[in-house]
Amino acid sequence: MSGNTGAVPFLDLVDINADLQTDLEVAWKAVLQHGRFVGGPEVERFETQFAAYCESRSCVGVANGTDAIELILTALGIGGGDEVIVPANTFVATAEAVRAAGARPVFVDVRPDTLLMDPAAAAAAVNRRTAAIIGVHLFGQMVAVPALSSLADRCGLAFIEDAAQAHGARYGGQPAGSVGRAAAFSFYPGKNLGALGDGGAVVTSDVELADRVRRLANHGRAAHDRHRHELPGRNSRLDSIQAAALSLKLPRLDSDNARRRELMRRYRESLPVSFEPVAVDPAAEHVHHLAVVRTLRREQAGAALSAADVGWGVHYPVPCHLQPAFAGCDERLPIAEEAATQILSLPISPTLDDGDVVRVCDALRGV
Ligand SMILES: *Cc1c(COP(=O)(O)O)cnc(C)c1O
Repeated sequence: MSGNTGAVPFLDLVDINADLQTDLEVAWKAVLQHGRFVGGPEVERFETQFAAYCESRSCVGVANGTDAIELILTALGIGGGDEVIVPANTFVATAEAVRAAGARPVFVDVRPDTLLMDPAAAAAAVNRRTAAIIGVHLFGQMVAVPALSSLADRCGLAFIEDAAQAHGARYGGQPAGSVGRAAAFSFYPGKNLGALGDGGAVVTSDVELADRVRRLANHGRAAHDRHRHELPGRNSRLDSIQAAALSLKLPRLDSDNARRRELMRRYRESLPVSFEPVAVDPAAEHVHHLAVVRTLRREQAGAALSAADVGWGVHYPVPCHLQPAFAGCDERLPIAEEAATQILSLPISPTLDDGDVVRVCDALRGV
């Protein structure tokens, strides 16, 4: 709730966690008392709960979503000399993780309606060095799963999900985290399921792959002998305290997502015609991590929103293939490039009320 000030915050993390304060204090006291801050019972409990939520067999808690992608690639043996297909329109972490694993990200264009990876563009990018396709479920909507997974099957590639923005989303009835060889989730505080610090998870029904990720993320340690290091691993673990918070928040995820859908429905009803929400694929159940609209008047719209004390953002103003960090990948990807100049993210969060949507739309009506 934004109170009676008229201001609409883009995201109010204090408000989102406010009604859990007492439960969080109880959970943290338990961690303080048993002292197993890393690898405590809270981690295993959350992993079991989240795997079940994703209708998958295994979940491995890790330090963040970027590590989750990198660990999946490494556990699949993907690295130096390999290419991994990623969409140009994503948060830069998807590409960073590919680089961190030693592979080369190959950027492809997106569909003009959903702004998600275009399966035809992905197919055109496959060559003999291609090892995997990372489908990014951006803004809360899952990619075109059947086209991408059948492309991966046909070409012998791993289809990996970047589900960092899609906790609880579905495609054709199947949840994010259940459709790829493995899925990476982020629990960064602002995500639909957010911790109170960094966190992430790898979700997969391939139990051996999960076991390999777990060992890689814990110094390559053998499951039952902490002094035996079987793989050249690293440290990327989920803390007990974060796992405890996530277990408290998971039961609310579906109702939070339903509230996001309702807010988006109201935006669709009330937005002026020059602000067009990004399309929803009829097979997708969107969880609206972000409320992204397209407009030819972004600059004026941003100014009008700021003047009305409404928070806003752009996700993302520079497509990955044009970022200095990925220079050299700068082939033209016209759909992603044009969209980047037009997209605008409006406030959407389970704590907003219907009046907040009215205030945002009223501010845009003058543009
Ligand atoms: C947030 C995000 C990530 C990275 O997650 P972190 O936990 O911040 O490392 C990866 N991909 C996408 C699409 C994201 O939105």
